[in-house]
Amino acid sequence: MKNNPLMKNNPFLYSDDHKRYHSWNYYLRHTYHTKVFKVALDAGFTCPNRDGTLGYGGCTYCTAAGSGEFAGDRRENVMCQFIHGKEKAAQKWHGMAIPYFQAFTNTYAPLHTLKEMLEPFMKMDDIPAICIATRADCLEDEKIAYLSQCAKKKDIWMELGLQSVHDESARLIHRGHSYTQFYECITRLSDSHIHICVHLINGLPNETAEMMLTSARVLSHLPIHALKIHMLHIMKNTAMATQYETSFFPLLSREEYVDIVIRQLELLPAEIIIQRLSGDGAQKDLIAPKWSADKKVLLNMIDREMQRRNTWQGRLYQPQFVSS
Ligand code: SF4
Repeated sequence: MKNNPLMKNNPFLYSDDHKRYHSWNYYLRHTYHTKVFKVALDAGFTCPNRDGTLGYGGCTYCTAAGSGEFAGDRRENVMCQFIHGKEKAAQKWHGMAIPYFQAFTNTYAPLHTLKEMLEPFMKMDDIPAICIATRADCLEDEKIAYLSQCAKKKDIWMELGLQSVHDESARLIHRGHSYTQFYECITRLSDSHIHICVHLINGLPNETAEMMLTSARVLSHLPIHALKIHMLHIMKNTAMATQYETSFFPLLSREEYVDIVIRQLELLPAEIIIQRLSGDGAQKDLIAPKWSADKKVLLNMIDREMQRRNTWQGRLYQPQFVSS
């Protein structure tokens, strides 16, 4: 690492290596001072966008695993999944594990079910944080109040799928909620102790680069703590795969994706932690784009291109004018 030429003249504040954005690894290292990794879990939930409450079939890109391909086996209880996941990870890393309730919508249940799910983990001293993936329309006030109490003892991360700030895109992908509903949820969460991470997808059908930049610009003014960005994946056995096979809408090339991601990073405040810039789907089910399967090459391209442009996260961030 010491001899990495990409480290030269890196002006970015939240980096001690070649990254010119506020990486999740940097955040974890500086917060917990040890290796920290997530263990993805499937707590057996469904989703209102699948069970008929809002619709059937879910978001058009969502897989049968509810976007939790690498989560544990839902036939096992979540503590067993966590222990097995941690043991597996221990073959590669030593450090602390974060339970990540990933598959489907993990607050789509009565409050007492959430409590039963979280309380065993809340009692474990060697767990520094808990991550919970959910939707903006599944976080009632009583759940936020409970999770906020938990967050006084342990870091609680709420991961909210948004994908795009544009309602026409949300309708097209059958997201089942609007930007206004998302914004209202962020406003309520911002009064709590919960950390907020938002998911964006680049390359949705009919979205231009300017629309993707607008999504980043809008998020740059919200009280969020982290962002995950990835390229649209066309996965087998999804509604999106059927659309793609019949109409072949264009997907971003790797170069286009790298360009858009860098321009999005420039618009975001440096404090926003970038949890992910590459996708996380199962390679065996990936129809397109094939380039997205090679995360290492993609992340290296982003690093090199940021250095070539001599740019960094937040370089073009514009705080909103607040009148006195
Ligand atoms: S909200 Fe999540 S789990 Fe539900 S359909 Fe969409 S991607 Fe799948």
